[in-house]
Amino acid sequence: MMKWLFLFALPMLFLACTKPAEPHTEIVLGTVCTVNAFKDGTKALYDELFATLSDIDDKFSTQKPYSELVALHDSAGIHPRTVSNDVFFVVQQACHFSALTDGAFDITIGPLVSLWGINTDHARIPTVQEIARALPLINWHHIMLDEKNTQIYLQQPEMSLDAGAIAKGYAADALVQILHAKNVRQALIDLGGNIYVFGKKSDGSPWRVGIKNPEHPYGTPLLVLTTEETSVVTSGVYERFLEQDGVHYHHILDKQTGYPVDNNLLSVTVVAPSSLTADALSTGLFVLGKEKGLEHAEKIGVEAIFIDDSRTIWTTPRIRNSLELLQEGYTFEK
Ligand code: ADP
Ligand code: MG
Repeated sequence: MMKWLFLFALPMLFLACTKPAEPHTEIVLGTVCTVNAFKDGTKALYDELFATLSDIDDKFSTQKPYSELVALHDSAGIHPRTVSNDVFFVVQQACHFSALTDGAFDITIGPLVSLWGINTDHARIPTVQEIARALPLINWHHIMLDEKNTQIYLQQPEMSLDAGAIAKGYAADALVQILHAKNVRQALIDLGGNIYVFGKKSDGSPWRVGIKNPEHPYGTPLLVLTTEETSVVTSGVYERFLEQDGVHYHHILDKQTGYPVDNNLLSVTVVAPSSLTADALSTGLFVLGKEKGLEHAEKIGVEAIFIDDSRTIWTTPRIRNSLELLQEGYTFEK
């Protein structure tokens, strides 16, 4: 009897002593990524999650010479390329969101992004001629998808894809699949502000997700969203920008003009169960502007929050009651 007790007691003791690992943070996908799996966070889990993130980074980066997006650019106008399932899926989804946003979101924005030097240390204002040459290359209708052979062909020479507005969302969804597979109960994923709150908190209370004040992104949040499991993604003018002669050039581009979108919006947040959806649409709805953007959000069936430079907050109707305003000087419209 004693022997059995002893044999049982040992593993129990061991389990009781296994403390969860600290939440893990790394720079991946060009941004600071943190995952906290709370009580279920082990080193092995974090290793697997971050290996997945670097694998996605390797495939979608426009800066790594071996990435699949670079390969697609190299064969643009020449021949199709066989790509991984990840790249095929994301590009297919990107086309879907281009169709849903009347082309406001367009993954073929690559030539413009590289002209502006977004995400590099050589950001600059392109010349009018450079922009004029790049604009005809930006057209998602010129992406040919061959699902059977998982091949992609960019029909025009010099075309290039930029997944900056969708890859982090895809990556968050990929992490969620792993969390499910490992029976993790509760986790918080933050990929440079691309948030996914997973599972239920141990005390049963809902999640509270802060939404930044676009004028003071590093201060107290402007809003708090109370929610069950979901993804919350914001596109804001404060994220990556270039300042010259007192003009602020941000990183959300209008393919009609070749310049950063100029429509009085400071940020757009999309709340949706799929982080890829929320990511693509936060950018797409930003480009559409608040009137069209709100219409599209309702039609597509996602929740959205628009903050403009008159400190007015516009939302889809359903999400309004789940939002708490933390700062004075801002008002809700609608
Ligand atoms: P963040 O990278 O700050 O999370 P977004 O999700 O809004 O912000 O994505 C902006 C990025 O997407 C830009 O840095 C650029 O790489 C790319 N991009 C810019 N304009 C567009 C657009 N109209 N359609 C698709 N992608 C875009
Ligand atoms: Mg986005």
